[in-house]
Amino acid sequence: MARLGMVIDTKRCVGCQDCVVACKTENRTPEGMNRDWITYATTGKFPKLSLKIQSERCNHCDDPPCVSCCPTGASHVHDWGGVVLVTKDECIGCKACVASCPYDARYIHPDGYADKCTFCIHRVEQGKDPACVSVCPTHCMYFGDLDDPESEVSRLLASRRHYSILPEAGTKPRIFYLE
Ligand code: SF4
Ligand code: SF4
Ligand code: SF4
Repeated sequence: MARLGMVIDTKRCVGCQDCVVACKTENRTPEGMNRDWITYATTGKFPKLSLKIQSERCNHCDDPPCVSCCPTGASHVHDWGGVVLVTKDECIGCKACVASCPYDARYIHPDGYADKCTFCIHRVEQGKDPACVSVCPTHCMYFGDLDDPESEVSRLLASRRHYSILPEAGTKPRIFYLE
């Protein structure tokens, strides 16, 4: 079984927000609610300052607290690719998963269910890249099977220094950022 994940090259991300707009259009997220977002942080010491830009979304964690805390089983790990999903008809909107996520990746949709990034599984199952990956003008986002040593994501992780966000939270995130 594949273990789908994402690799994002922070050196090439220009913070244009095209990924955010593409997600909003593809997934018709409600006004004021997004499945992905950009963070900007200044690093280093004056005068050697640099701007670190990250495109962030649900990390589709290998050990997801949002799944283990869900009282109905609505939050689950999909058989295919290990993608973390929500079955909206089974969700009671209790917000336990929202509270459990260290990445603040979830919101409650106005229709009453928890929502978040799906890795665009509806596109991936058709052999397409996620919408955010497909529109990036600098091609800084990569998507694929982390368990396949020949995949582009695996080769990038083997050859470049990288990090994940909040590894200390212990959820084993599956989005990696190239330095
Ligand atoms: Fe769950 Fe949050 Fe991890 Fe996504 S990032 S799988 S919502 S704990
Ligand atoms: Fe499960 Fe829905 Fe409650 Fe989240 S809000 S824990 S998906 S029932
Ligand atoms: Fe949005 Fe799809 Fe990208 Fe997730 S993978 S942030 S759902 S466009």
